[in-house]
Amino acid sequence: MVSRVIPVDPFDLVVFGGTGDLARRKILPALFRRFCSGQMEDDSRIIGAARSEHSRDEFRQMVAEAIAEFNTSTTCEAGTVEAFLERIDYVNIDAKGEEGWEDLHNLMIPGRVRAFYFSVAPSLFGDLAERLHKHGMADADSRIVVEKPFGRDLDTAKDLNATLAQHFDESQIYRIDHYLGKETVQNLMAVRFGNMLFEPLWNSQYVDHIQITVAETVGVGGRGEYYDRSGAMRDMVQNHLMQLLCLIAMEPPAKFDPDAVRDEKLKVIRALDPVEPIDIVRGQYGAKDGKPDYPTDVENPRSTSESFVALRVNISNWRWAGTPFYLRTGKKLKARSSEIAVVFKETPHSIFGEEAGRHRNILTIRLQPNEGMDLDVTIKEPGPGGMRLVDVPLDMTFADALGPDGEDVPDAYERLIMDVIRGNQTLFMRGDEVEAAWAWTDPIIEGWETRGDRPVSYDPGSSGPDDALMLMHRDGRKWREIRS
Ligand code: NAP
Repeated sequence: MVSRVIPVDPFDLVVFGGTGDLARRKILPALFRRFCSGQMEDDSRIIGAARSEHSRDEFRQMVAEAIAEFNTSTTCEAGTVEAFLERIDYVNIDAKGEEGWEDLHNLMIPGRVRAFYFSVAPSLFGDLAERLHKHGMADADSRIVVEKPFGRDLDTAKDLNATLAQHFDESQIYRIDHYLGKETVQNLMAVRFGNMLFEPLWNSQYVDHIQITVAETVGVGGRGEYYDRSGAMRDMVQNHLMQLLCLIAMEPPAKFDPDAVRDEKLKVIRALDPVEPIDIVRGQYGAKDGKPDYPTDVENPRSTSESFVALRVNISNWRWAGTPFYLRTGKKLKARSSEIAVVFKETPHSIFGEEAGRHRNILTIRLQPNEGMDLDVTIKEPGPGGMRLVDVPLDMTFADALGPDGEDVPDAYERLIMDVIRGNQTLFMRGDEVEAAWAWTDPIIEGWETRGDRPVSYDPGSSGPDDALMLMHRDGRKWREIRS
């Protein structure tokens, strides 16, 4: 199936932090792919901006290298890189200084959409917003894209929201959570609200529980210092897992429009019960096969931050009361795998007798790898010998269903950046949503700090600490296997 590409209006996109890791690995290759697909009109421009001095040609060379290293697309025609590079410019700017801003202003073409991507440390967001305003670039055609982390608690998130609000209206602020740009995550909404099949069953009467797993095999890599200041709760749960939970749990919005969707997500966050200490397990990976443990990796022998967290979460509303949500995420686990599993209840009575066993339907939404969904259904085991039942998956792998080699499944950043240009905020977090998520997260973290809780150790390559298994066993349930 060939996807329809609708070109967006010509735009100017300024990437602050254009020389940084995120720009090189994600933003610039994503823009290149959109250019290849024909979505960017020829006169759209991308302007890198950073503190270090580079000529336009040097920056173009940097972009070419980033594309060579990180672009995964194989469908671009010969000569496309050169054509793309012609769209690229560079301005030398210090977010905290005054130089370079007039050069940037002079580059802007009046009347067209301008987006400013803040791919720099959060401590610079306020400086950038202020100087964009001061130099006449915070007008009605402007949008800003803000990367995570959005604050480290409720107070800092409120401060950041207030700073940005001094110069930009909420409708101009795009707080990015790349999980929301994943095709599967959007498909979650399509499946829920585009089919008659699921929505009537999507409640505590039919759903036993829901599991959300985001498992990584890597450790903290070169981000040790940053990660240790956050831990998995701030780095993953407050944003990514919370967003997934919202999309699974929210009521159907009246329309698929930004505020209707975000209003419903906000209601979910506000309906979350506080989490009791008994319902949380924190872990730190240990040493194995000569590889260092977590405290060594982050160069903080006394670290109490978690590289793994599992929680049992209750949503106190009419739809979900009595159906727990189990969330877990961690580093150095046995496989790289992110999925949401909606585990339905067993049938109330088995007409096939006890020997047929107990069976249940599970709808699994795979975020990575191999984006797709499958639904476990119970069928008769083929052959003679009575009515034996087995569970088999109805598999829908998007790459198989939508394109011969997965080329039609765009990367999350591609989708999200094009949404910024189109002015569609549906897949971006609103300020009040982020604050509500921190308001729920803060007491959990404060509780650990007040009690002096320490994470338990787990084996690298495992499914996390044994205590996390107990979190579900205690309720007579078990986690799904983490496998890629
Ligand atoms: P990075 O590799 O350290 O890059 C930082 C960028 O900011 C560089 O281009 C740097 O340019 C520029 N910069 C630093 N100080 C500046 C100043 N005073 N004025 C103008 N530019 C300045 O960081 P990153 O990993 O790309 O991360 C950028 C943002 O994205 C951070 O908020 C991070 O939390 C977030 N994020 C990153 C990732 C990721 O995978 N990397 C994932 C999610 C979110 P010069 O060196 O030329 O000054």
